[in-house]
Amino acid sequence: MLLELKNVRKKYKLGKGNEFEALKGIDVSFNPGELVAITGESGSGKSTLMNLLGGLDLDYQGSIKYNGYNLNKLKEKEIDSYRKTNIGFIFQSFNLIARMNVLNNVTLGATLSGVSKSEKQKRAKELLVKVGIEDHMYKKPNQLSGGQMQRVAIARALMNDPDIILADEPTGSLDSETSKQIIELIQEISNEDKLVIMVTHSEKVAATCNRIIKMTDGKIIDDKLVNTEEPIKKADNNIIKKSSSISAFSSFALALRNMKEKIGRNILIAIGASIGIASIIVIMSLGQGIENYMTGTMEDLVNPRVVEVNKIAENDSEEAEGMPPGPPFMTGEAEPFTEDELNELTKIDGVSTIEPGFTKMSMQGSSIKYGDEETNFMILGTTSSNMTKGNIEEGNMPSTNEVLIDSSASDKLGEDIVGSTVTITTTIDNTEITKDFKVSGIYASSGMGNMSSIYFTYDELSAFAKDNDIEIEPTVAFLLCDNEDATASVKEKIISMGYTGSMQEAMLKSIVSMIDVVSYLLAGIAAIALLVSAIMILVVMYISVVERTAEIGLMKALGARRKDIRRIFSSEALLIGFFGGILGVISSLIMGGIINSLTTNLFDIAIADVVPVYMLAGIILSVVVSLISGILPAMKAAKLDPVESLRHE
Ligand code: ADP
Ligand code: MG
Repeated sequence: MLLELKNVRKKYKLGKGNEFEALKGIDVSFNPGELVAITGESGSGKSTLMNLLGGLDLDYQGSIKYNGYNLNKLKEKEIDSYRKTNIGFIFQSFNLIARMNVLNNVTLGATLSGVSKSEKQKRAKELLVKVGIEDHMYKKPNQLSGGQMQRVAIARALMNDPDIILADEPTGSLDSETSKQIIELIQEISNEDKLVIMVTHSEKVAATCNRIIKMTDGKIIDDKLVNTEEPIKKADNNIIKKSSSISAFSSFALALRNMKEKIGRNILIAIGASIGIASIIVIMSLGQGIENYMTGTMEDLVNPRVVEVNKIAENDSEEAEGMPPGPPFMTGEAEPFTEDELNELTKIDGVSTIEPGFTKMSMQGSSIKYGDEETNFMILGTTSSNMTKGNIEEGNMPSTNEVLIDSSASDKLGEDIVGSTVTITTTIDNTEITKDFKVSGIYASSGMGNMSSIYFTYDELSAFAKDNDIEIEPTVAFLLCDNEDATASVKEKIISMGYTGSMQEAMLKSIVSMIDVVSYLLAGIAAIALLVSAIMILVVMYISVVERTAEIGLMKALGARRKDIRRIFSSEALLIGFFGGILGVISSLIMGGIINSLTTNLFDIAIADVVPVYMLAGIILSVVVSLISGILPAMKAAKLDPVESLRHE
């Protein structure tokens, strides 16, 4: 005996403790090769019985044995295999998946078993020939007639070569001529050692079978053999075959196909997901850029043993209003240091010597003339121990009658300028002063853009001014510390004394604080966007599960394991995350480009450094967030009850 039922009862729970008994003690058995018709009025329990036989519903009393295996005592994996490889289901409403073509509908059962593509396509094509619709292989179900759709469903039921075909009113939705053809097809199948159990309302159909079972009110009231003298008995060596799960590749292929169906929606989600990811990549890139700048440019430019001291400009002048307190360089004329102040600075712990310096910035009226070439310079400064020899690109530090110009000035004046004589014109104390100097060398530009600078020794500049009866006083002081370790505490000390540090450091601070604002903004956007996109993915996946309930039910009827369903939905989440991540990388490159063109214009530094590791990290983060958001919907889908889901419209 292939199937043996003993005293099978099925109660439906109706809530509030009420129950309805749909099967009231069924005792029946079936053999291979039989073609059984089950008849009976609507509501007599035929479908309920079919669902039990097919392993779709395991909540019953009594025993149902498949070749000795008790169905409701099988492991979940085994019952899935039973549905997948031992049972072929044919439904009244066909239950084809609308967005898949005929071929893919037929192969679905094999896809869920991890059968290779070429193998399953070969078999599907044979079956389509057998059921007579090979010409319609690439059509979608809505391009087929009812009879054709049922033929597809029959081919699908045969895909994994089951021992038992369960057909629940297979002709219930078809006209009489088509019904006849479908019944003939089903009879053909039954000639192949399979057990075919078919629910039908038609006396005529029942009469063509070799056994008719009549049900009323949850009981079998008649069971008779027709068209045959002997009860059919064939050797049964049927077992529950082992079958594997859906392959990762197939689950991605299915997921991609599902996503293509709702392409607009999925693009929008991916864009949503990409905002957070792009923000995170840009934040990391800014951090990297700042670090590069700090370690690179700054350390090269300054002597680590020197602390530069500037007086904070009095922010009382008209034009300085609204400006942050900064070194005089940033805000206009500098107050000179008094003798007392310089003495006080010398007394700071860790300071060995103090060098006076002079710095002045002017937007116009200061020029270098070299032959026919002339260029303006913006910063007039004095040399100090703070300027390292390592930053001399060519030539030497200046001495008497010499001037050091920076590379941005020399770029404008032409080659071979080192050793040549230039005419410097500038304004100190509202007096224009002019003199010829020899160019001692070229100093590496500080990376501050077009702000050309020139440098004299403090003594040379004093002499130059004195020639014009001007007395310069130090506006900046360089404290040479005992060692590098002392600089940190010296820096703190001068700030507590009301001074400020190096111009470059201050400049850097202003860039950093600007970048900080951008980073905080982006971090905020990133956090919110990530959360929003996670919720969005969650909601959309839930909607998708609800929309596809019938489909999930079908897949379960075809033997899909919970793991398979989870895998399909997780693949969708993963793909959304992946595409979102890719979009995020593209947006971050665009955002980084915009930020860089801004900072390049302002400070001549490309501050956003979008490195490949961050792009990769962004994509991985996106995938992880999506996968996490997809967990709940995927679990919900996996938990759906196949019988209820199939009923879902
Ligand atoms: P048939 O297929 O013979 O028309 P069914 O097996 O579908 O009958 O139903 C048998 C009885 O069980 C009917 O009275 C029906 O109302 C009831 N029934 C079926 N499914 C459910 C369910 N999920 N919950 C409660 N009652 C159900
Ligand atoms: Mg029914």
